[in-house]
Amino acid sequence: MGAQYAHRRNIDPGEEARPNVSQLSPFFRHRLISEEEAVSAALTVHGGEQATKFIQEICWRTYFNGWLEHHPSVWSDYVSDRDAQFQALEKDKGLRADYEAAIEGRAGIDGFDHWAGELTETGYLHNHARMSFASIWLFTLKLPWALGADFFLRHLHDGDPASNTLSWRWVAGLHTPGKTYLAKKEAIETCSDGRFAPDNLAQSGRQVPGAENPQSQQLPARDSLPDERFALLLTEDDLSVETWLDEHLDIEAIAGLHSAETRCAADVSEQAVAFTNGALKDGLARAGSHFGVSAQNLSDDRDRQTALKDWANSLETRHIVLPYIPAGWTHDTLSPLLSELQADGLHIHQIRRNWDECFWPHAKKGFFKLRKQIPSVLDALDIAEGLKLDG
Ligand SMILES: Cc1cc2nc3c(=O)[nH]c(=O)nc-3n(C[C@H](O)[C@H](O)[C@H](O)COP(=O)(O)OP(=O)(O)OC[C@H]3O[C@@H](n4cnc5c(N)ncnc54)[C@H](O)[C@@H]3O)c2cc1C
Repeated sequence: MGAQYAHRRNIDPGEEARPNVSQLSPFFRHRLISEEEAVSAALTVHGGEQATKFIQEICWRTYFNGWLEHHPSVWSDYVSDRDAQFQALEKDKGLRADYEAAIEGRAGIDGFDHWAGELTETGYLHNHARMSFASIWLFTLKLPWALGADFFLRHLHDGDPASNTLSWRWVAGLHTPGKTYLAKKEAIETCSDGRFAPDNLAQSGRQVPGAENPQSQQLPARDSLPDERFALLLTEDDLSVETWLDEHLDIEAIAGLHSAETRCAADVSEQAVAFTNGALKDGLARAGSHFGVSAQNLSDDRDRQTALKDWANSLETRHIVLPYIPAGWTHDTLSPLLSELQADGLHIHQIRRNWDECFWPHAKKGFFKLRKQIPSVLDALDIAEGLKLDG
């Protein structure tokens, strides 16, 4: 998280030995580790100057999350585009053959073919490999961006609606209009530590078809905890409530609902589903022991809607609290079910972490506006007073 990270994080020597980056993204994704914990640890061990780069990278995740909350239709547009592109594959044999060759590592492009296999086998790719893969997909192979984003989501253990969708749009020149990321042979050779040097890559970007950024909208209002006894419902979006909710809260029951298999239109990889469901099980166990209440996984063997309704009907309290569910597949899957509970007279409270509450208002436009606010926000969060970041 210090100087070595700052200098070497772009280099990917391969899956055998990858000491330059943390590989913690699946844990951040489900908040098994929080951004706050990681930043505090980085500052304690390395100090502000050396930890700057790591903190900024953590904040990219926060930025993408906050940006998508201000522009949630970018997620729903992605879902519609993805479904339309899958239909197009049914009709266009040439497109289908190119798409299948790309995801099966048969495109004949050095590096690209390896990364397709590494992703499907391990559920992880280094950031530089992700950028290069997406760029080759878009500009050399000229494949639709939504199918690439779907391929990543199907396999990544850290698959995230905000970071994935917006990173694909960033490479495509849709997030920062007109500014594409063009993969170059030399950069790939350097960043892959000499492992790959693909020839015949596209020499210029193209206008990638895709929806423009919509107008920014207000963040949804922040709910507060009820004054009385409540039940707690966990999803894959935040699985360490014991680190930010007081153990003395009066909690009647705890339950979890999984949604990992709803990430994509096609089958999600078994490994990715197993990682997420394992994380949910683990998060439930920790929450249960923190609050001294038994915690159950509702969707283990029954359909989500019936299991949630039966659980809600079994409660004495009329209040259900959830860590905030941001835009994405869990939101899409659970929102109609939560609305049904509300129609039945239950009160649903979605509460946000202070980290998101303090950072997200700065995530309406570009990353650099948020980056400038890092010292003052960390100060406000009592993580670092008078912090000076390098660069
Ligand atoms: C096309 C594309 C798709 C991506 N899809 C995802 C995704 O679905 N989920 C995801 O978590 N990240 C995604 N990323 C961002 C980034 O590649 C990964 O977060 C990072 O590679 C994870 O490896 P690490 O934990 O070793 O990162 P480290 O370098 O150790 O960074 C520490 C943490 O900071 C955050 N972070 C670092 N770089 C970025 C970044 N550029 N954007 C957002 N967060 C960052 C991650 O939470 C990461 O775990 C994507 C990037 C691209 C270019």
